[in-house]
Amino acid sequence: MPGHPSRWGRRRGDRLARADVPSDTAHHLLVCHNSKIACRCGGGGCSVDGERNTTGRCQVGDRYDVVVVGGGAAGLAGALALARARRSVLVVDAGEPRNAPAGGVHNYLTREGTPPGELLAAGRAEVTGYGGQIVTGRVRTAARDDGGFSLTLADASVLRARRLLVTTGLVDELPEVPGLARRWGRDVLHCPYCHGWEVRDRRIGVLATGPTGVQQAQLWRQWSPHVLLLVHDAPPPNADELEELAAREITVVDGPVAELVVAGDTLTGVRLADGGVVDLDALVVAPRFTARAGLLADLGLAPVEVELGGHVFGTQIPADPSGATAAAGVWVAGNVADVRAQVISAAAAGLTAAAAINADLVAEETREAVRERRHRVATMFTEQAWEQRYTSRPAVWSGRPNPQLVAEASDLAPGRALDVGSGEGADAVWLARRGWRVTAVDISRTALQRAAAHADDAGVADRVDWVHADVREQPPVEASYDLVSAQFMHLPGEERDVLFARLAGAVAVGGTLLIVGHHPWDLRTSVHRMHLPEMMYTPQELATGLDPAVWDVRAEARPRTAVDPQGREITIHDAVLVARRRS
Ligand SMILES: Cc1cc2nc3c(=O)[nH]c(=O)nc-3n(C[C@H](O)[C@H](O)[C@H](O)COP(=O)(O)OP(=O)(O)OC[C@H]3O[C@@H](n4cnc5c(N)ncnc54)[C@H](O)[C@@H]3O)c2cc1C
Repeated sequence: MPGHPSRWGRRRGDRLARADVPSDTAHHLLVCHNSKIACRCGGGGCSVDGERNTTGRCQVGDRYDVVVVGGGAAGLAGALALARARRSVLVVDAGEPRNAPAGGVHNYLTREGTPPGELLAAGRAEVTGYGGQIVTGRVRTAARDDGGFSLTLADASVLRARRLLVTTGLVDELPEVPGLARRWGRDVLHCPYCHGWEVRDRRIGVLATGPTGVQQAQLWRQWSPHVLLLVHDAPPPNADELEELAAREITVVDGPVAELVVAGDTLTGVRLADGGVVDLDALVVAPRFTARAGLLADLGLAPVEVELGGHVFGTQIPADPSGATAAAGVWVAGNVADVRAQVISAAAAGLTAAAAINADLVAEETREAVRERRHRVATMFTEQAWEQRYTSRPAVWSGRPNPQLVAEASDLAPGRALDVGSGEGADAVWLARRGWRVTAVDISRTALQRAAAHADDAGVADRVDWVHADVREQPPVEASYDLVSAQFMHLPGEERDVLFARLAGAVAVGGTLLIVGHHPWDLRTSVHRMHLPEMMYTPQELATGLDPAVWDVRAEARPRTAVDPQGREITIHDAVLVARRRS
């Protein structure tokens, strides 16, 4: 049986350290919260936003809660939510967002027309402002490693993460027409919602490269009355389609397109294979949207084809609505998971995935905490655990007698006392000084040696018998003591009931049983306590074990002033049972 098991409150324990330290610190990261420092190291090819170590060189951590691969809208939105959730998060970004060639981002509520680079720069500042890190680099491979993942970058550096959020976007595979790729995103367009307004009422050619060309032309007709369908290498429209196109006054131009015609830096038209030129202000194409997902191959994730009307127009990584993939611990968001995602929906998907990742980490941490707690509870009351505790410091307790003992025993006539869990002996020495003959029992030899030395110093060594025992296994002799005192003895429920019944049995007729513990109310305060509610008790719970025909009982929650870890004075309560044995 432990000596003073619940004087836990006087030591700083693991729980506080864990709760007070953000998980990034636990992973040995250097993080500048709210830092706007942009560190650009030479040589290693890395650059980190928001962090600089004391030598001024870039430094990334050794393991992150989450590494986000890809720093576009999806990745940054995910990283922002994770950083705000106090997760250590690193974004690795190759710096090639899909919409980079565009002049502005449209349909992003409140940010209408913002240049893509400006939007991302603001997003990066928000992420680093909350302690997230961003490194420029390209992840080549990802593999499982020690319950998490290890990522190898193009420069051969390796990162480790508990979870992955992959937001690498997609590649727009453009039709191979000379001059076309150079004008991509400027006057070679694909998305009417992104660019339609900007080319409204202009001459728009739709380059058909598959069966969806007709629908595309009809869609763009919403933005301009001057739409031409360039049949190029697509199957020619059927009779119904020709009628629809005619009804919408969309001109059909047969024959392949040979090249784009550009004057200065402006598209002016296309040249057909037969040499004819069609004047245009914009050319609409239907790229194939290919998920950038090569790095997921080693994790068993492959893109699937996305069809529209039987026509494959791209690939994406399958995932559930939260972005969780078939590979445990790997989430995807944005265009890599959804070819249709726009900037605002990619950002929303990043946030959704981040919340799911955080929930997954919380669940894992709870499972670990339960495992640890079970182990701790199973081992904390052993002789070895108490020896470890006492030998870890020269004195565990204050050396002062417990206040409720002083309050209750000061007026008692001295007799034989049993001090259960006597620790370093302050209560036993106090009783001996007042004339009691004390049997002091503890599970720790170190505690007993210290206690005996204190008794020597106090000149009462001859009045105390120091007994090394586990009272759970060696119960005290029945009806032998005028005072039995157990101060802050907190044990698992069943063991406690058995022990306290034995302690009651050890009280002689006319004697007093004094049991004092930390009241469960203390857990509602800011006082430092190990969180073991099932081992705390109310005085009323203690009283129910005593037969009113035999005992006069006082069961009280007594307030006491204590100082919490922040140095504030607060009120805590002792659960106090004072029972006098009548017969
Ligand atoms: C020309 C054009 C104009 C557009 N205009 C608009 C518009 O006005 N409004 C709108 O809502 N949408 C627009 N879009 C669509 C928009 O670009 C996408 O919806 C958006 O970019 C998707 O965001 P994302 O985060 O999924 O991917 P991206 O923005 O493409 O970001 C992916 C990031 O991941 C990085 N990356 C890829 N692989 C790796 C790797 N292995 N390691 C590290 N980093 C990697 C890339 O370099 C990139 O920075 C436009 C698209 C194009 C092509």
